Amino acid sequence: MKAPITQDVVTIPRREAEGGKRNIVGLTREALRDALIAVGTPEKQAKMRVGQVWQWVYHWGVRDFAAMTNLSKAFRAVLAEHFEIALPEVVTRQVSGDGTRKYLIRIAGGHEVETVYIPEEGRGTLCISSQVGCTLTCSFCHTGTQKLVRNLTAAEIVGQVMLARDDLGEWPEPGTGTGESGPRLLSNIVLMGMGEPLYNFENVRDGMKIVMDGEGIALGRRRITLSTSGVVPEIARTAEEIGCLLAVSFHATTDAVRDVLVPINRRWNIETLLAALKEYPKATNSERITFEYVMLDGVNDSDDDAHRLVALLDGIPAKVNLIPFNEWPGAPYRRSSNNRIRAFATILMQAGYASPIRTPRGEDIMAACGQLKSATERARKSRAEIAAEAGL
Ligand code: SAH
Ligand code: SF4
Repeated sequence: MKAPITQDVVTIPRREAEGGKRNIVGLTREALRDALIAVGTPEKQAKMRVGQVWQWVYHWGVRDFAAMTNLSKAFRAVLAEHFEIALPEVVTRQVSGDGTRKYLIRIAGGHEVETVYIPEEGRGTLCISSQVGCTLTCSFCHTGTQKLVRNLTAAEIVGQVMLARDDLGEWPEPGTGTGESGPRLLSNIVLMGMGEPLYNFENVRDGMKIVMDGEGIALGRRRITLSTSGVVPEIARTAEEIGCLLAVSFHATTDAVRDVLVPINRRWNIETLLAALKEYPKATNSERITFEYVMLDGVNDSDDDAHRLVALLDGIPAKVNLIPFNEWPGAPYRRSSNNRIRAFATILMQAGYASPIRTPRGEDIMAACGQLKSATERARKSRAEIAAEAGL
């Protein structure tokens, strides 16, 4: 039995868009510049004003224009009249026995997504969502059973990072240095939550550009990993326009099996996917592509699979992340045994590939890979199940 789960409802005051105020969060520098000019900022000053506002919002984490003390009172009043600095609302925060934190956040329209913070030795990774649900239907993924409701905006994507920093108390205190010394609690981001990030390309790109900006949150591009199920036409664009690290949900070594596990394979098969990955311009030995491989008992975990995987990876700087399958209610698969996973890893390692076995984190709060799904959806499903059981 793991340590007890705590769950508390956080009441972060919701900042409604009063009178159609524009949210500053999620605007790129260019968009913010245009927005400031539109409310009367002289063009000559616009670049400097963007820099000042940017620092307050993304470096210091300030939410109140009144606190932006290097701006004139008159300009602060203009900002407050036309803009807001708004984050999604945190509905619940659960803390796992292993320290993993899962936030259920509510976004405009009443939709919900999940964000997970995973603390590690001297660092910490935030797993963020890019869509409500997912249009794809990978057969082993809980999120895939929830139909897509909508894409997240850039504000909602950056907002997840900001609210996690709020909760971790990681904004520097104005006037007490830059806050850049020492290890960061939130040092890495993985786009591995709900949704297929490459089906929401522009918002993900803008959100990550904001997060990477050196005068704000300043997480370098090598600290961000985008995971895709294999949206081939967007892979080259990811390198060009985001430049982050890439992970691919590979999960099978034959098209017949991958067609079932990751149905997007029917559109872009293994050969097409590998060709796109070989071209990924950032792929060098120091920036390897991560191949995610979920270990499903008797489905994709044989020695033959491991040997085939080695052959397929030939010519691609790669590491393999073996993910023991995380179960969810009604899942049609079982996790491979530890011995099987180790045997599989050994074959990869003997072929020279790093192949760490991912330790499931936050399982007790359904925060592990592939377990995310909006609570409302879960509740809906369980009501449906209850009705079915009762023969209604
Ligand atoms: N849609 C993107 C990113 C989110 S999924 C993608 O598919 O890549 C993040 C990772 O968790 C993916 O590799 C996904 O295949 C994996 N995953 C999904 N369900 C899982 C489960 N039940 N157990 C373990 N890993 C799972
Ligand atoms: Fe969507 Fe990724 Fe889950 Fe597939 S694994 S259903 S692409 S979230």
